[in-house]
Amino acid sequence: MSTTKQDIRALSKEQLMAFFTSNGDKAFRGKQVYEWLWKKGVHHFDDMTNLSLETRLLLNKAFSINHIEVDTMQRSSDGTLKNAIRLHDGLVVESVLIPTPKRTTACVSSQVGCSLDCKFCATSRLKRMRNLNPDEIYDQVVAIDKQSRLYHNKKLTNIVFMGMGEPLMNYNNVLKAIDKITSEEGLGMSPKRIVVSTSGVPKMIKKMAEDNVKFNLAVSLHSAIDEVRTQIMPFNETFPLKDLREALQFWYEKTKRQITYEYVVWDGINDTVKDIQALIDFCKFAPSKVNIIEYNPIDDGEFQQANKSTIDRYVSMLEANNITVTVRRSRGKDIDAACGQLANKA
Ligand code: SAH
Repeated sequence: MSTTKQDIRALSKEQLMAFFTSNGDKAFRGKQVYEWLWKKGVHHFDDMTNLSLETRLLLNKAFSINHIEVDTMQRSSDGTLKNAIRLHDGLVVESVLIPTPKRTTACVSSQVGCSLDCKFCATSRLKRMRNLNPDEIYDQVVAIDKQSRLYHNKKLTNIVFMGMGEPLMNYNNVLKAIDKITSEEGLGMSPKRIVVSTSGVPKMIKKMAEDNVKFNLAVSLHSAIDEVRTQIMPFNETFPLKDLREALQFWYEKTKRQITYEYVVWDGINDTVKDIQALIDFCKFAPSKVNIIEYNPIDDGEFQQANKSTIDRYVSMLEANNITVTVRRSRGKDIDAACGQLANKA
């Protein structure tokens, strides 16, 4: 429900401490509340059981906790869980839990809809409605961590920002959420287990490098030829490959970390030797890994997954050039939970 009270999780720990001292209480009370909000993840002031009734009333009067709700949950035959997440203002995003024998991964959203216009992605049809707040991103992770413990008997091991939205177009909030996720006051997860996936916003990739972030970067490349990439990802006109490459070079020089490229191979679009050679050339400036991902159809035509022999040709040519390559199967396709299928259908 929407409310005019201030969302308490927009406050830093210091601001919370100041709230209590200005109300004649101890600063320490702010630390207690902060722990309830982030480490323990409670959604109601009345659940903060070590606070007096008076303190809880004070909080109730001044603040709201704009928490998310898991609205519906769908389970795929492969164990993937898709959650429709309702936000405090009624909008909906989707988050997915992907289990494998070794890990459980949360795929989280960073925006409601998306401002980019990738032709092959269902989310792009929703347009961008708003950015998610840091706590709304954090809450998705907490909800999926709970599901991981419940259904797989282990805590969440990995997070990928590959749900709805372009994380680098909501950079500050994504960074704040990751700070909480990785801090001991939050979930204490290692940033090495987090991947931020971007369509490639050069200015923000440079900013990430300057900010010395510790999580990993994946770039949805799909083509290393401008004319082809612009056709399938029209914003490439504004952020051409030359700028993307220069930003990635800067990222690599600063971080010395391998760059992962996500890549779908489509029939008649990027399936020739020329396409493969361009990808090889693009990858040369830094240690790179190419994840060839399966296409998840979102309509009935324009885009068709290339056949196995075309994919095999990609793999062998990339390997011959010492570029690591993996071919990934899609998960959760039967419930529209796979990459690019998140569009609030259910
Ligand atoms: N905006 C970010 C994150 C969201 S998309 C990005 O572009 O990286 C997550 C991944 O799914 C991206 O690699 C994207 O290119 C891919 N994707 C989008 N639609 C897809 C589809 N229909 N089939 C397979 N992958 C898709």
